[in-house]
Amino acid sequence: MLHSAETKVARAAYPVIDFHTHITHAGGLDGPGKIRFAASAEECLSVMDRKNIRTMVNLTAGYGANLQEAIDKLQTAHPGRFLVFTEPAWSKAADADYPRVQADLIEDAHRRGAKGLKVLKTLGLYLRENVTTGPLIRIDDRRFDPMWEAVGALKMPVAIHSADPEAFFLPIDRFNERWEELHAHPDWSFHGKDFPSNRELQEARRNVMRRHPRTQFVCLHVADSEDLPYVSECLDQHPNMHVEIAARIGELGRQPRAASQFIEKYQDRVMFGTDAVPHGDKTPQQVFNDQLYEIYYRFLETKDEYFDYAPAVVPPQGRWKIYGIGLRDQVLRKLYADNAARLLGISA
Ligand SMILES: [Zn+2]
Repeated sequence: MLHSAETKVARAAYPVIDFHTHITHAGGLDGPGKIRFAASAEECLSVMDRKNIRTMVNLTAGYGANLQEAIDKLQTAHPGRFLVFTEPAWSKAADADYPRVQADLIEDAHRRGAKGLKVLKTLGLYLRENVTTGPLIRIDDRRFDPMWEAVGALKMPVAIHSADPEAFFLPIDRFNERWEELHAHPDWSFHGKDFPSNRELQEARRNVMRRHPRTQFVCLHVADSEDLPYVSECLDQHPNMHVEIAARIGELGRQPRAASQFIEKYQDRVMFGTDAVPHGDKTPQQVFNDQLYEIYYRFLETKDEYFDYAPAVVPPQGRWKIYGIGLRDQVLRKLYADNAARLLGISA
């Protein structure tokens, strides 16, 4: 019954770089497969032009021929509008020569024009000693050291997703605040079995950031959006760490004062992202469309109160609403584009 004002923000106040999108998918543990485009460049561009998005960073383009196809159809065909990242060859991770092969694949990706490296939560939660069987491989496993060093030397930032919301590590029972989300996606539960805790995964990622100070890491989903004091401690200790906000305005927006203080304090290291997937109807908080961007802009640019964080009848990540944080212009500009542009080596 609450009467509260709705501010419609149809376009971002400044041109946006969306640092976290999935226009393509290029396979996983079972090998590269054939790259799939969830939408054409033209389909994306119409939303981008309406919503003031100058550039979409497509993170999941694989490597080799898949990567080349994504670069050709997106980055090369539409200069400045799309950037493409490469991914590790997970299916080769059990091979004896993997460390060298992976470092070589990074150099190959760089030659093809890849702008960075995406590491899915596959590392830490799915990838095992025999790829799909055996013990889980740790995020800080030494076999990846040549990969982390190679991207650092080539100035390719790493977009890394590790761990997940705390509720995903708890029993799916009536006390779990994401009960409905976990019922919709049971494979997102990492409770029990041999899974490490959320904090163990976070700490393993910190070991990697410590060991590779020349490599720039963008910890996706605010690293650990439910524990901003912990993320602050990490940012204070690791100058090569950055964060982006994709799919976590539900978390940031239910702690609007802490969130705005956090973004203000780390204003040079927080960037805009959505985790947008064209036609991704299973996750309303990630469907690439006008509505998605309007919600992000409303959260960042207004002080509207108590509104939905996703375009869905039932809030998909938990039954609560969010509050806008109305960032200052200078901070907004950095978050929307300047921080990402600096890291990607493109003009602001
Ligand atoms: Zn993502």
